[in-house]
Amino acid sequence: MAARVHGERIWLDGRMIPWDEARVHVLTHTLHYGLGVFEGIRCYRTDDGRSAVFRLPEHIRRLFESAHINLMQIPYTRDAISQAVLDSLRENALLEGYIRPLAFIGDGVMGLNPADNPVRVAVVAWAWGKYLGEEGMERGIRCRVSSFTRHHVNAKMQKGKTCGDYVNSILAKREALLDGYDEAILLDATGLVAEASGENLFLVRDGEIKTPPLANVLEGITRSSVIELARDKGMTVVEAPITRDELYIADEIFLTGTAAEVTPVREIDHRQIGPGRRGPITKTLQDAFFDVVAGRDRKHERWLTYV
Ligand code: PMP
Repeated sequence: MAARVHGERIWLDGRMIPWDEARVHVLTHTLHYGLGVFEGIRCYRTDDGRSAVFRLPEHIRRLFESAHINLMQIPYTRDAISQAVLDSLRENALLEGYIRPLAFIGDGVMGLNPADNPVRVAVVAWAWGKYLGEEGMERGIRCRVSSFTRHHVNAKMQKGKTCGDYVNSILAKREALLDGYDEAILLDATGLVAEASGENLFLVRDGEIKTPPLANVLEGITRSSVIELARDKGMTVVEAPITRDELYIADEIFLTGTAAEVTPVREIDHRQIGPGRRGPITKTLQDAFFDVVAGRDRKHERWLTYV
């Protein structure tokens, strides 16, 4: 979880360099003002002993869309960044792990207009276990509804993964941890449930699965995968507004994200959710997800890029 990471090599600005040499100047523009974009991608060991990156083209597409939204021009092709992801895994001999592409604005002028400062790109890969803990995957985690509000959609453009926007998530996450919870759930500026600090949220009630519509949440790649897996199994999934009290009376709640995968929630704000442990629909979808990433689901093998 919070372990320090160290590997062998990092892809920076088109070159694979030793880990400890991947440094930046303190006048790096993104460091001051937060205008940068990133992705989080996972690679899994498949049952046949190979390694596969989950939904690589979708992550690379979102990286470029995040840059476009923010008027940043990434000076590499999508193919080059995809290749850098695969190379980072190979060069660090990682059979499974997490990959972080980051496009940031380098040093040059200061002030809010980054003008002609270079757009730089790093791709870093490291080993990363269960983001919300092994135990949480089975027993479910405890969440609090945050005292912080998810940015208004015209402040945080939700289609992008923008570095500075994550201060909002960090405030919520740290508050939740300091208060003894595992994760924070944020409401949007109108009071409706948005998402967790770094995950999308789903609830189950009377056999129907519900998740907030895309307007005020990140278009999660795990979210869309889980919706497709659920529908394939004949389950009903609706994208509709969710209120805070609806969380409390749900039969099941789970979070989805690249880091968190499919994590059950057993309690929110001291209210037990359903029977207070991982529910049957959550378990079915968790299993379906892990079947895909382990290469056991032929139908969804198109979501895997073998390393
Ligand atoms: N919402 C937020 C705010 C996130 O940071 C993430 C993680 N990228 C998600 C949702 C889940 O998205 P994905 O499934 O694409 O990782």
